[in-house]
Amino acid sequence: MRLSFAGQSDVGRVRGENQDAIALPAEQGAAGAWLFLLADGMGGAAGGARASAMALKAISESMAKALAGQDGPPADPAPLLRRSAERANREIRDAAGREQDLAGMGTTLVAALLYAGRALIANVGDSRAYLLRAGELLQLTEDHSLVQQEVARGHLTPEQARNHSMKNVLTRALGAADTVEVDLFTRELALGDVLLLCSDGLHGPVPQPSIRELLMASRRPDEAASRLVDAANSLGGPDNVSVVVVRVEELAAGGGEPGTDTQRRQARQRPGGLRGLIRRLRD
Ligand code: CA
Repeated sequence: MRLSFAGQSDVGRVRGENQDAIALPAEQGAAGAWLFLLADGMGGAAGGARASAMALKAISESMAKALAGQDGPPADPAPLLRRSAERANREIRDAAGREQDLAGMGTTLVAALLYAGRALIANVGDSRAYLLRAGELLQLTEDHSLVQQEVARGHLTPEQARNHSMKNVLTRALGAADTVEVDLFTRELALGDVLLLCSDGLHGPVPQPSIRELLMASRRPDEAASRLVDAANSLGGPDNVSVVVVRVEELAAGGGEPGTDTQRRQARQRPGGLRGLIRRLRD
């Protein structure tokens, strides 16, 4: 499997601080597995940025540890990703209990682990994963928010939810309670698929048809990421806006092939793609 990817995290036009965080794999094209993370922190003066950074660090480290020494892509990484998110929940909760400044902090999470022609998606809160395939944009995750609950019950339309005064109220977040329920989805990938992770700073102001058009009109992930962030900011940039765009450039025909020298070298470096990958992007 070969991927191209890019991410951007921007403070927006209204907020004084960026409490979102993203993490991309440290290198492109390594064999094995690629982990992409996005978190949208909340709570207190210092808490939001701490919570999102802690989540990314805890999950990156525990996934790197869990996958280290495995010979090839993991057979079933879902329990590993779930436990990593649960660990992040405990760490954020513990830190918030220890330090008064951090009381009440929490964060959303959307994670994508790409491996063996599949994407494993995990989410908590209202940061989302979308898949663009053959011109169609599909929302893969379901928001854990009060307004989404009302949409599911038929009390609100999705359009009413998008502009609702209570749209920021989450029903789940990392750090919000002693335990957390993590939603997990697995998708088979196809050549040319584009995966988008984003915070509500994007999907709040920018309608879904516009997100689709901007992804369709962009040749490369870095171009798409810039256009999406610009679109949110041109609509007022009411919140921190973060995006991760991943494009499937090649799907491996199968394991155990001899490969080129480059591929073999990259294979030996694995799981380097998951090591030291924290890259906090700020404006
Ligand atoms: Ca937000």
